[in-house]
Amino acid sequence: MKRILITGGAGFIGSHLSELLLNQGNDIICLDNFFTGSKQNIVHLMDNKFFELIRHDVIDPFKAEVDEIYNLACPASPVHYQINPIKTVKTSVMGAINMLGLAKRLKVKILQASTSEVYGDPQIHPQSEDYSGNVSCIGPRACYDEGKRIAETLFTSYHNQNGVKIKIIRIFNTYGPRMNPNDGRVVSNFIVQALKNNDITVYGDGSQTRSFQYIDDLLSAMTKMMATNDNLTGPINIGNPEEFTIRELAEKIIDLTGSKSKIIYKPLPKDDPVRRKPDIRLAMEKLSWQPSTPLDEGLKKTIAYFDELLKS
Ligand code: NAD
Ligand code: UDP
Repeated sequence: MKRILITGGAGFIGSHLSELLLNQGNDIICLDNFFTGSKQNIVHLMDNKFFELIRHDVIDPFKAEVDEIYNLACPASPVHYQINPIKTVKTSVMGAINMLGLAKRLKVKILQASTSEVYGDPQIHPQSEDYSGNVSCIGPRACYDEGKRIAETLFTSYHNQNGVKIKIIRIFNTYGPRMNPNDGRVVSNFIVQALKNNDITVYGDGSQTRSFQYIDDLLSAMTKMMATNDNLTGPINIGNPEEFTIRELAEKIIDLTGSKSKIIYKPLPKDDPVRRKPDIRLAMEKLSWQPSTPLDEGLKKTIAYFDELLKS
């Protein structure tokens, strides 16, 4: 049994990771300030004596004796991370420093949930790990993109300078049950709109693309990455390379829900990336991993979750 610290453990990804690692027989410390996460996501774990919930903000130092750390604390939806951009930067930067300090003292592995946003609005396609990206340092997404980039710098520097055992994964758009229905991300927005027969809000003309990964595929990559030997530090792209336009996604969700919703078009937010698709050859080679959930299958499970949520 390992004692594992998961920051952001009450969020969408963190709650699934907490559940998986707990079910695998580990002792979980779930640390969260509930900015975008909620107790509802983890309430089913709370009776387990090996699950411990701590309300804490990662911008403040934290001490505990643990064997591994997954650093996920950070709002991930553009709507939420832009509410308080200074706080978003602090969460990424000070959160990384505090967790890396802990990993250094304890001499334990630490995994950073980085993001495809480190590539910004990419000018090469698909994006491989050696592409250094096209990021605005002053645009509306900068607080998140640059925060995550400096976090990668910090992780790499703690590794090079202090020998900290780091693992960096760059996560591409991930979806599934327990996404916050109000967080403005495209999959949750479209599903909730479709289930309510409301208009589906496509931003721009809907020709921009994303590659959508189901949560279970991400979890298997995260745990595989953590289990690799100390030489594999990353960064490694983790995503589903199947690419869809946002209009295709809207049509698919209308179809799968049998909704009467109509698609309407709204202005495209500033700096919204035009195309995004991971090159996952490195993950396939180093982790013997590739996603296995087709979009339709993952969407059906996610729709069933939101359907239940809206009914209750
Ligand atoms: P989420 O918003 O559901 O979860 C983030 C969690 O972090 C929430 O529980 C939130 O309350 C907590 N948090 C935020 N600021 C905090 C702070 N200062 N101190 C303590 N807790 C704090 O988002 P998610 O989709 O689960 O994302 C989890 C991680 O994965 C994030 O770091 C995100 O950047 C990264 N990521 C997610 C995606 C995706 O598509 N979901 C893609 C790339 C990267
Ligand atoms: N989007 C949209 N309608 C919505 C929400 C998002 O058309 O109601 C678009 C958004 O402009 C972007 C894509 O969907 O092009 C993905 O947005 P999301 O916020 O999920 O994540 P991003 O990949 O942009 O961080």
